[in-house]
Amino acid sequence: MNPFDLTGRVALVTGGNGGIGLGMATGLAAAGATVVIAARNREKSLAAVSELERLGAKGDFIALDVALPVSCRAVIGETVARHARLDILVNNAGMSIRKPPETYTVEEWRQVIETNLTGAFVLCQAAHPIMERQRGGKIINIGSMMSIFGGAYAAPYSSSKGAIVQMSKSLATAWARDNIQVNTVLPGWIDTELTRGARAQVPGLNERVLARTPAGRWGVPDDLAGIAVFLGSAASDFVTGAAIPVDGGYSSEF
Ligand code: NDP
Repeated sequence: MNPFDLTGRVALVTGGNGGIGLGMATGLAAAGATVVIAARNREKSLAAVSELERLGAKGDFIALDVALPVSCRAVIGETVARHARLDILVNNAGMSIRKPPETYTVEEWRQVIETNLTGAFVLCQAAHPIMERQRGGKIINIGSMMSIFGGAYAAPYSSSKGAIVQMSKSLATAWARDNIQVNTVLPGWIDTELTRGARAQVPGLNERVLARTPAGRWGVPDDLAGIAVFLGSAASDFVTGAAIPVDGGYSSEF
């Protein structure tokens, strides 16, 4: 038996229509899973589903605004209604508002926390009874180097990404007896729309990332495919509550 085989498994990837989410969705699909992409942008999501189907996988799109708890609960219900199961939940949808900390409005703070943290929590809560009934499941949450380090322009973002590691550990502890593993992936600097925005806004960022990353390059979304398959499959059945960097060595070097 291949412990990485995901044939017959159903995965839900929030924000799976581009960037890191699509990199992970592609890995899961290539390993045999049916992948549901959940995000706001319908056109971009349908293009991503076509990309997965070109690999010979089964893909689907369900609209989600992760900042709305009602939408989070609905997407879990709709996934199970359409595909009969939910084996892997990837909480990848995320955003940042980059400003000095003293200038955030409470609304801006809430927007980042509700998108990156509260939404992920509500999705985990909604997935739990289904995974419990199935006697197992895999939850993969997406942190960041900002789960470990701070950033002058990232007060709410780093707060959300630090908290998601602790949330994952708590859920991992609570649900281990249900055979539900909950882990966090901490990506380093990955070339996506999100970081292209940061690169445009922050002078010298590109050069600093290249100099500071031991691997000497930006990551690409496909660099996240392997960890998604590992944490989504039986290969990781005794791995839970872990926070795993996928960062080209960024967090290892002093
Ligand atoms: P992108 O901007 O490319 O992707 C973000 C995704 O999140 C999009 O698919 C977007 O889809 C979705 N999304 C954003 N807001 C919402 C919302 N309210 N409801 C539903 N979906 C939403 O960024 P990345 O691929 O870079 O980021 C993915 C994750 O990885 C994020 O959690 C980010 O914090 C994290 N990360 C990224 C790093 C990097 O270097 N790129 C480093 C560390 C962590 P849509 O707009 O269609 O809703």
